[in-house]
Amino acid sequence: MENSKHNHHSVYIDRFDDVKILQYRFDEFENLPLDKKILVYCLSQASLAGRDIIYDQNYKHNLLIRNSLESIFEKYSGDRNSKEFELFTNYLKRIWYSNGIHDPFSKEKIKPEFSEHYFHHLIENSFEGSLQKFFKTTEEAKTQLSKLISNPDIAPKGLEQDSNKDIIQNSAVNFYEGVSQEESEKYYKNLQKENPLLSCGLNSKLEKQRDQLVEKTWYSEGMYSSAINNVTHWLRQALDYTENEQQTQWLKALIQFYETGDLEEFNTYNIQWLKDTQSDVDLINGFIETYSDPLGLKGTWESILHVRDREATRRTEILSQNAQWFEDHAPIEKRFRKEKVKGISANVVNVAMLGGESHPTSPVGVNLPNSDWIRKEYGSKSITLNNIASAHHEAMLQSGIIEEFAYSETEKNRHKEHGFIADNLHTDLHECLGHGSGKMLEGVNSEALKNYQAPIEEARADLFALYFMMDQKLIDLGIITTLDVAKAQYDSYIRNGLFTQLIKIKPGRNLEQAHMRNRQLISLWCYKIGAPENVIEFKKVEGKTFIVINDYYKLRNLFGKLLAEIQRIKSEGDYEAARQLVEDYGTIIDNELHQEIIERFQKLDIPPFTGFINPQYIPVMENNKIVDINIQYAQNYQEQMLNYSKNYSFLPSKND
Ligand code: ZN
Repeated sequence: MENSKHNHHSVYIDRFDDVKILQYRFDEFENLPLDKKILVYCLSQASLAGRDIIYDQNYKHNLLIRNSLESIFEKYSGDRNSKEFELFTNYLKRIWYSNGIHDPFSKEKIKPEFSEHYFHHLIENSFEGSLQKFFKTTEEAKTQLSKLISNPDIAPKGLEQDSNKDIIQNSAVNFYEGVSQEESEKYYKNLQKENPLLSCGLNSKLEKQRDQLVEKTWYSEGMYSSAINNVTHWLRQALDYTENEQQTQWLKALIQFYETGDLEEFNTYNIQWLKDTQSDVDLINGFIETYSDPLGLKGTWESILHVRDREATRRTEILSQNAQWFEDHAPIEKRFRKEKVKGISANVVNVAMLGGESHPTSPVGVNLPNSDWIRKEYGSKSITLNNIASAHHEAMLQSGIIEEFAYSETEKNRHKEHGFIADNLHTDLHECLGHGSGKMLEGVNSEALKNYQAPIEEARADLFALYFMMDQKLIDLGIITTLDVAKAQYDSYIRNGLFTQLIKIKPGRNLEQAHMRNRQLISLWCYKIGAPENVIEFKKVEGKTFIVINDYYKLRNLFGKLLAEIQRIKSEGDYEAARQLVEDYGTIIDNELHQEIIERFQKLDIPPFTGFINPQYIPVMENNKIVDINIQYAQNYQEQMLNYSKNYSFLPSKND
C-alpha cells in the first residue's frame, strides 16, 4: 500500500513542531578543479569553527544549556521511545535550530513541552560525561538547568523592541553587561562622533566594571579567542589555494582583523573584498549583521561559503550594468537619488556551507558590507543563493500551499510557470539595486531611525524591487519575457504580507522581526491607501479568505508612492515618521486572519519554518596529500548537530 501523504521528496530531511529541515544540493562541486575543491574544503571548516560564538552571543548560558542537553541526550539510560523523550528531543532540535533558547523570529524563550519532573528524571539517569563536569551534584544540575530553561521570568526575550522599556536590560543577548540603554547609547554616540568611519561596537561586548564602561573585544587574544583562532587557522590554510591575488588580499585582511580586533582592519578587509569580483569561491565570515542587537551595532557571527553559478549570474550582471538607469527612474525625489551608482556587483551563487547565525536558517539573498560610507565609496556585493531558493521552491510546490491560498486558476498557473524566476528576480532587484540605491542627506546617518532602521531599510529594498519588476525595461533587457512574472510576484508578496506570513506568529503576539514587519507594512499600506479604488480585495469563498489583486498597475503605482515616502524617511532620518509607519502598518496583526491561517495550515500540515542541513566534505588522502574531496549529503539532522558540537566546540560552557 502507498502512503502518499508522507511520501516526501528527498528535499525533506526532518520535521519537529513547526519546523522542517531541508537539504540543499551543491551538484556543481564535483566539476570544480582540485584546487578550488580544497579551497572550498578549508573555508567550509572556517565556517563551522565559529559555531559556538553565535550560541554565546544569543545568550550567555546557551552553551551550558546546549552541552548539558546533548550530554543527557547521549547518556540517558531509560526509555528512549517514550512520548516524553520525544518531546525532550524536539526541544533540543529547536535549540539547535535557534542557536540557543530563544526563537530566532519571535525572539521569545522557547517553552519546553516536557514536565520539570521528567526533566529531573532525565538528569538523574544521565549524570555522567559532560554533565558531571558542569555541575557538582545532580541537585545542582536540576536546579540550575530547570531555572534556565523553564522559568519564564528569566531571560524571557532574546531581543526586546518595546520602546517603552529599556531595550538593553530587557534583552537576553550577550552584548551588554550591567549597563543601561541610556549609558550605552551615550557611550556609542560619543565613540561614533570621534570615529565616524568605523563600525563602532561591532565586535565587542560592552560591560560596566567598577563604574567604568569597558569594551571586551572579540578577537584572537580577547573574548571568543579559542573559536576565533580555529577560524583563522582554516583561513590561513586556504591561502595556499586562492584563485587570484585579490582573493589572497582580502583573506589576509580578514585574518588580520580577527587577530587585532581593530575596526580599521575591518574596513580594509571590506574594501579588499569588494575589489574581488573575479573569484568563483567567495566567503562571508565574521561579525556581520546587527539585527540581534537592540541598538543595531553588534555583529552576530555567521559564515556563508558560496561558489558562483556562472549561468544564472548573467541575469544579475545585466541588472548591475544598468544600475544607473534604475536609479534615474526610481520614483523618489531627485535630491535623494545617487548621481552616480557605483560598483554594484551581483552574483547568483550556490551555497557550499552555512555556519553560525546562518545555519540552520539561511537567508536567500545577501548584500554587504553594511557600512554606509564604504557602500558609497566602493559599492557593495550582492548574492542570491540559488540552491537555497531552489530547495525552498521544491518544498513549496509539494506542499499544496498554492492550491489552498491562490484565488483563481490563472493565479495558480501563473505561479507554477513563473513563481521561481519571480522570487529570484525579486531577490536580485532587492539585493543588487534596492539596498544600494538612494542617498542620505548630508549629516544624516542610518542610526537616526534606531530600532526602526531595519524594517524601514528592508521595506525600501523590497519596494524598489516590486516597483521595477513590472517595468517594461526588464523585458527590453531580456531578463523576462512577460510581465506575468511581476504579477506572480505581486500575488505572492501581498498574500504573504497580509496573510500567510502570520503563520509564523504565535497567537496573541505581534510582528517583531524586521522582514516580517516590512512585508506587512508594505502590503497593509497598499491595501488601505488603495481601498477607495479597490486595488486589493479580501474575498470570502466558503468561509475561506482570499487576497485578490484587482489592478496590478495601480498596485505598482502604490509601491512607487510608498517608496518615495520611505526613501524620504531614510534620507532625512525622520525617526517619528518611521515609528508611525512601522507601528501603524507593520506591527499589529489581525487576530481573525491569524486564527484562520493557523487552522488552514493545520489541515495542510506544513511546518512554516525552514532550516537546512549542510553537505559534508571529505578529503581523500594519498601519501599525506589531498588528491580529491568528496561531497556527501548528510541525511540526519541530529547527527549533524551532535557531530558539529563534538568537532567544533571551541568555547567553554561556563564563563563565570
Ligand atoms: Zn534586505
